[in-house]
Amino acid sequence: MTETADTVRATGRGCPECGEPVDVGGQYVTWCAACDWNVDPGVRDEETPGRIERLRRRLAQRYGEQLLAELSDPATGDAPGTAAGTTADRTRPGTRTGSRRGTAGVFATALAVAVHGVTVALLAGGLWLVFAGRGALPVVGALMIGLAVVLRPRFGRLPKDGGRRALLRRTDAPRLFALLDDVAGTVGTTGVRAVVIDADANASVRTYGIRQHRVLHIGLGLWEILSPQERIALLGHEFGHYAHGDTRRSVLVGAAFQSLGTWRYTLAPVPAQGLAQDFANLLTALPRLLVDGVLALLEHLTLRESQRAEYLADSTAARAAGTEAAAGLMDRLLVSGSVAGELRRETVAARTRIGGAARREDPSEGLWERLAAYAAAVPEHEYERLRRVAERRGHQVDATHPPTHLRHRRLTRGAPGGAVLVLDAARAAEVDGELAAVRRSVARELLRG
Ligand SMILES: [Zn+2]
Ligand SMILES: [Zn+2]
Repeated sequence: MTETADTVRATGRGCPECGEPVDVGGQYVTWCAACDWNVDPGVRDEETPGRIERLRRRLAQRYGEQLLAELSDPATGDAPGTAAGTTADRTRPGTRTGSRRGTAGVFATALAVAVHGVTVALLAGGLWLVFAGRGALPVVGALMIGLAVVLRPRFGRLPKDGGRRALLRRTDAPRLFALLDDVAGTVGTTGVRAVVIDADANASVRTYGIRQHRVLHIGLGLWEILSPQERIALLGHEFGHYAHGDTRRSVLVGAAFQSLGTWRYTLAPVPAQGLAQDFANLLTALPRLLVDGVLALLEHLTLRESQRAEYLADSTAARAAGTEAAAGLMDRLLVSGSVAGELRRETVAARTRIGGAARREDPSEGLWERLAAYAAAVPEHEYERLRRVAERRGHQVDATHPPTHLRHRRLTRGAPGGAVLVLDAARAAEVDGELAAVRRSVARELLRG
């Protein structure tokens, strides 16, 4: 297919499938908007996903469409950008969707408790064998205790400062934190304790420690390609997760996912090289199936609500930043994969240049500006292609989010809503100024490798 695309590009001929003139992609993919020829050349390179991942994607696709319809229904749903809308479904627990959601949440929590119950049983059984067992049993007991320790629920830790990652506290960047407080306040929640900044092409909020403090992760690979108002939308989305609640993010369920992941890793089949390995694989086959089954069930019970939470977080983003900025954010998310690729290209170029002739220039200088320019130069036909790819595949790379084209459609369908919080150029520049040193050090560390 690539050769054909190259031929089309070189000869300037029309689409080999339907003959229509095609957009010659330049550095982008050459494809046909009339018949979708070569719209998704990357699909061949994708690794075949595992069983759980396939299930996750199938569900993500199905729920994405269902929820879009449900949330657009004026009787039960909410419209993005309306202040009353986002709370409507929470104050109406008696609706059919509300109660179904509640039941799934209760089951998910019960399942999570059962998962942690197994860990507790391992610990208790292990202790009993160590103290009361005879012969080799205390050794088995010690192994059980070890396993329980590995499987224990973890609260997460704050990443360390340094290297390719910077950790900011309130005193390090008071203006940034004031902005975060404002966005959080706008959506009805509180700000964060710490901010982690690195070069990733995404962002998130999570909790850490036993007291569940919040930490915001800002990936400059995404942050730097956003307009000030789109940054408000991004922050509005992230804080929106805490304004709405999300089962998957609850301590109990989140930790159960983690424990099950550890189980899967522990029980993964070993490469069969002899009878001993075959026997071990046979022995672990049944527990492996069981763990996969429980994981799939938990996935089923929480994914729908998780996707719903994403849509609601989008509403929050639209309310804080205006629908236009929120929709703009969706477009930037579509190209975030290409932006990450561009960042990798820059990294490889910088590292292979070390010691070479072009040493005089520091490639980390202006890295983020170049990245922003790259993102701004992505033409509309590439956006359109990426939208169609998302629609065809029906999922995002990260399947806990509904497909981006559906999120975009939902935001742009209603009447446009204004912003509650406007980040003007002066304030944006103040925040940028505070981040200047961090932007430089992250760029330098990234390119140095
Ligand atoms: Zn065609
Ligand atoms: Zn989200």
